[in-house]
Amino acid sequence: MVERHLRRRGIADERVLAAMAAVPRERFCPGAGLRRAYSDRALRIEEGQTISQPWVVAAMTAALGLSGRERVLEVGTGSGYGAAVLSRCCREVVTLERHALLAQRAERLLGELGYDNVEVRTADGTNGAPDRAPFGGISVTAAAEGAPPAALVDQLAEGAALVCPVRRNGDERLILLRDGLEEALVPVRFVPLVEG
Ligand code: SAH
Repeated sequence: MVERHLRRRGIADERVLAAMAAVPRERFCPGAGLRRAYSDRALRIEEGQTISQPWVVAAMTAALGLSGRERVLEVGTGSGYGAAVLSRCCREVVTLERHALLAQRAERLLGELGYDNVEVRTADGTNGAPDRAPFGGISVTAAAEGAPPAALVDQLAEGAALVCPVRRNGDERLILLRDGLEEALVPVRFVPLVEG
């Protein structure tokens, strides 16, 4: 997966590639089988949600430009896969999920796999986690309408990046925000970020 789907398709950050090689993706999508788990596809998880395709997880993590010392916020825990990848590229992850059942499952699995630098919270991620801010990176894994939630932008440390899928006029793209500057990355398809 790392060579074929990631390195060859432009993911160059060695720490991200090492994290992608280390995290056992099949544990986060039980029932998919090994072949599908390591194919470059999004897969269904419970509650009608999905686990993003490996390339997108790697590209979002790489876009944050992490040094390894940051506290990172993830919005949309889902299966916990993205949080596991992030946790290997920074010091600490706070991840927020609005579905209590998904949050509980992800927390249990991350604990079983020994990812002890991840805090999972059942919460509306559009408010972020003000008690743990500022963050050295923020990754939103559900699509915002128009713009990333303002509360999240406020919780960025100086010079830190936020990556978020944003839908505008039916077009959905990964947006990278750093120092108030916005850069549009690749077209993507995520489940909607539920407001409130
Ligand atoms: N990162 C996940 C994939 C996330 S799918 C993984 O690696 O498996 C998007 C997730 O965002 C879903 O689980 C959905 O329930 C969650 N979500 C949507 N709106 C949210 C909100 N406002 N706050 C927190 N979680 C939200």
